[in-house]
Amino acid sequence: MGCCDTPGLMPIDSALTKIVAGISPLTDAFDMPLDEAIGYVIAEDVRSPINVPPFANSAMDGYAIHRDDLALGKPLVIAGRSFAGVPFAGECTPGNCIRIMTGAKIPLGCNAVIMQELAEVTDQGVTFSVTKVADQNNIRPIGDDVFQNDVVLKQGARLTPRDIPLLASLGVATVKVLRRPKIAFFSTGDELRPLGSTLKEGQIYDSNRYGIKALVKNFGCEALDLGVIPDDYETLKQTFLKAKNEADVVITSGGVSVGEADFIKDILDDIGQIGFWKLAIKPGKPFAYGTIDDAIFCGLPGNPVSAMLTMYVLVQPMLAKLSGHSQWKQPESIPAIATSMFKKAPGRTDYQRGIYQINEQGQFEVATTGNQGSGAFRSMSVANCFVVLEQDRGRVQTGETVNIQLFNSTLY
Ligand code: AMP
Ligand code: MG
Repeated sequence: MGCCDTPGLMPIDSALTKIVAGISPLTDAFDMPLDEAIGYVIAEDVRSPINVPPFANSAMDGYAIHRDDLALGKPLVIAGRSFAGVPFAGECTPGNCIRIMTGAKIPLGCNAVIMQELAEVTDQGVTFSVTKVADQNNIRPIGDDVFQNDVVLKQGARLTPRDIPLLASLGVATVKVLRRPKIAFFSTGDELRPLGSTLKEGQIYDSNRYGIKALVKNFGCEALDLGVIPDDYETLKQTFLKAKNEADVVITSGGVSVGEADFIKDILDDIGQIGFWKLAIKPGKPFAYGTIDDAIFCGLPGNPVSAMLTMYVLVQPMLAKLSGHSQWKQPESIPAIATSMFKKAPGRTDYQRGIYQINEQGQFEVATTGNQGSGAFRSMSVANCFVVLEQDRGRVQTGETVNIQLFNSTLY
């Protein structure tokens, strides 16, 4: 144990290793139309059925010529036109040129295109203000972008909006994708009310369920929302049974901290194999993890920032592995200069919320968002990064270097 390990608390890396090691990726695959495949994970390498472009074509509006003719410096006769989709049918013979538009097929007999800005059309033909150009000047060769049979997407990639037009350019109308994990989730707590209801004394709106749903969908999983479940043994047990029968993963929030924990704990002792962990992470200390029959169970803490944070740090890598998204990578850590003080005591890894910017010297700088309470969700909303302060680190003074993880590469 290092100087600052806290007895009884599980370091975040150990928790993550344990969780990910126990996951087997889903393997069921099916064909999906390309225009519905966004966010799905590719089940097998995608190879291009064609060359792209399928024919050599012009990169400019201008004139297709043979370089030997250009060197002679004589006007060339326009023998025809090659437009996009309407190629020139014949061959361009010496002394001639072909009027050509961007994307149009290069006529036989031509080995360069001169842009129209360098051409002048006279009664004698077309003259050019250059006498020498490189072979294949302004010509996009066949297969310039992709060769037939090239692997363009690897198995385990998750389809992004950037991949869709690429596959469309290859004429790929359907892709083999993996089934998405189905995630059942519910909030627990007598105080929680769904949106649209009026709050009575002592009640609050259920926010975690909406956050979990948003993240689950963003991670490319199917969401099964089971609502708010009151702190009642039998109702909770029935909900757990329904959830584990219908989903690959069951996520709950609340009721895992000391006191209430026993309630969920009793049920799970009865129907599953669950460990109740105390993590060396702040916020987010209480976390339950295990299985209920074939379903994976994640019990998030109730505090909203803790719930989102454990989703991000522990559940996201688990879902990535379960989804077969083998190209998923842990968020990168970027060193940044603290421009404010960060309160911290040694013992747990802090995921504080920060606002970063890049200064005039091109360095990352980061300031705290202020209130870092585990119920203060505004700190997440106004932030654009996590400030990850190591387990054994104490208070951070202005000017010290800290590691940040940008939201746009993590929480999307
Ligand atoms: P618990 O883990 O159930 O003891 O809850 C810890 C704190 O988080 C309490 O203040 C709860 O009211 C709050 N909380 C629990 N679940 C939710 C939820 N779904 N949405 C918002 N706050 C919650
Ligand atoms: Mg509760």
